[in-house]
Amino acid sequence: MTLKMPDIPDHEGFAAPVLPTGEPAPSASAFTKTFVGYQATCSCGWTDRRRFPATPEGAKEAEYRWWSRHTPGLLAAAPPSWLVIKSNLLCEQIVHLAADRPLAALTLLSQVESWQRTLLDQAVAAARENGASWAEVGEAMGISKQSAHERFRTPASTASGAE
Ligand SMILES: [Zn+2]
Repeated sequence: MTLKMPDIPDHEGFAAPVLPTGEPAPSASAFTKTFVGYQATCSCGWTDRRRFPATPEGAKEAEYRWWSRHTPGLLAAAPPSWLVIKSNLLCEQIVHLAADRPLAALTLLSQVESWQRTLLDQAVAAARENGASWAEVGEAMGISKQSAHERFRTPASTASGAE
């Protein structure tokens, strides 16, 4: 059984049978004559270190580990899928507007730019207040830890040496 969550579509978890060599099988459906236990793994390459017995209960426990150990951090940085759909739709509509009425698109885009900057600063500040590291902020934005720190650090966070 594969485990999926709609907000993190690139991650499919499963209880991988652990081969006698100690390696988890590459997929849940991989043919394994003998296996010594179950280990939670994810399609992204993540593997749980803990091994569970080669029983149906063991498989269930391994599946639970994917959910309890792997997904919380991912979900924290994953916007709700319905909002991603709206955002993509907005982008698409502005592309059409820019083709038909470029000046109207410019007006709209400059409005978006002004609230986008403010909201970005607020979201970074909130993430930092909630204990997110610069590496996590960078990862959420698809930029490096260094870039995130240079772009968003405030005099207060520099003075306190906050990391
Ligand atoms: Zn994953």
